[in-house]
Order: sequence, then structure tokens, then C-alpha cells
Amino acid sequence: MGLTIALNRGRILEQCLPLLEAAGIRPVEDTGASRKLVFKTIEGEHQLVIMRGSDVPTYVAYGAADVGITGKDTLLEYRGGAGFYERLDLGFGRCRIMSAAPVGAELHQTPLRVATKFVNIAEEYYASQGRHVSIIKLAGAMELAPLMNLADCIVDIVDTGNTLKANGLEPLETIAHISARLIVNHASMKTRFDEVQLLIDQLRQNLPENG
Ligand code: AMP
Repeated sequence: MGLTIALNRGRILEQCLPLLEAAGIRPVEDTGASRKLVFKTIEGEHQLVIMRGSDVPTYVAYGAADVGITGKDTLLEYRGGAGFYERLDLGFGRCRIMSAAPVGAELHQTPLRVATKFVNIAEEYYASQGRHVSIIKLAGAMELAPLMNLADCIVDIVDTGNTLKANGLEPLETIAHISARLIVNHASMKTRFDEVQLLIDQLRQNLPENG
């Protein structure tokens, strides 16, 4: 039996597939054309399971998947307890989690109203700053919240900063640097060490930047 590999659907998946293929792991069907969630691999015993990024750490922590690939943001936000090791930075999907506010805004309010989908990351960050905040959980389009006076500032993913700019916001502090990471279930790291280590070595060899 091979490894069960949990993959973050969407842009991370698109960038993972060529890397996995270079490591000899190729799904039997086109993942983009199928509504399936579980894919066998050609000439391999591994299986790929495709899911929301925020579910990847859960599957890996509980051992339903041996290995997972998802963004560091979902790992930082995960609060299920430590059931996995982070073993490889895949180097793609780079962005930052930042605070941002309307250009020129004075943020002296107490508590500061912070809109975000990264509730845990934001809570931890402002606690570390000794700042009293009220976190408002949103599912998307955080940049809308200050415009509508729902919040004073936001904590969100920033890449080029164009989305912030287009909505009259400016980036403030960098809270975390993000990229895609490979995680391994604690037990799998011991019981399936050779297979897991081979996968890590093969992926590492094919990373564009790490050579
Ligand atoms: P930008 O306008 O380039 O700063 O991109 C900002 C938006 O794109 C964010 O609100 C995110 O939703 C999304 N985004 C950009 N880069 C990433 C990434 N690496 N992972 C996930 N979402 C991203």
C-alpha cells in the first residue's frame, strides 16, 4: 500500500501536480476534468485526495492521510492540536498575511475592530502586540469591511497589493510569510519513514529554486 496524499484544491493543486509528476506520481484521470475527490496514481500505489486547504491539516493530523500539501496560512490557522510535522517548504504560492487599513487611517480605537478569516492568526498576533482587538470573522472579501465601516482594519493575504490598492487600503504590518508546505502525519513519519522520505527527497529535487 502506498501513501495517501491530501492536496489543497485550487491554485496549490495546479502547482503541485507537475511536481508530483516529476516525482513519478501521476493521477490516472485528469483531476480538473473529474468530479472525483480520490484519485489512484499510474504505476504507483499512492492515492491523491483533493479537498479544501483548511481540511488538509485535519486529514493529516488524524492519519486519514499520511501526507498533505497546503498553504502555511492554513497550518497557522489550524487549531486541532499537533498531529503532524511540517517537513518541506515547496516555495510556491508565496504571499504574506498582513494587516491593512484605509490609506492614512489612524488606528487608535480600543478595541480595534479587525475583520479577517484568519481569526486565530489575528488573535495571536494582536495579543503578542498587547493590542486589545475585537475580531470579526468573515468568509471572504475582507477589504470590503473597512469600506462599509464594519471594521477599522483587516488581516488578509497580500500578494501584489493590488486588491488592497483598488479598494483604498494600504498594507501595514507583515504578520507571516506564506508558501505551500508539505506536512506528514506523526505516526506515518515513523511507520512509513522510507516512503515518506523518498517522496520528500523527490519533491525537493524538483523544486525550481532549491535545485
Ligand atoms: P493581490 O491583489 O495580488 O495582493 O492578491 C490579493 C488576493 O489574492 C488575496 O485577497 C487572496 O485572496 C489572493 N491571493 C493572492 N496570493 C495568494 C496565495 N498565494 N494564496 C492564496 N490566496 C492568494
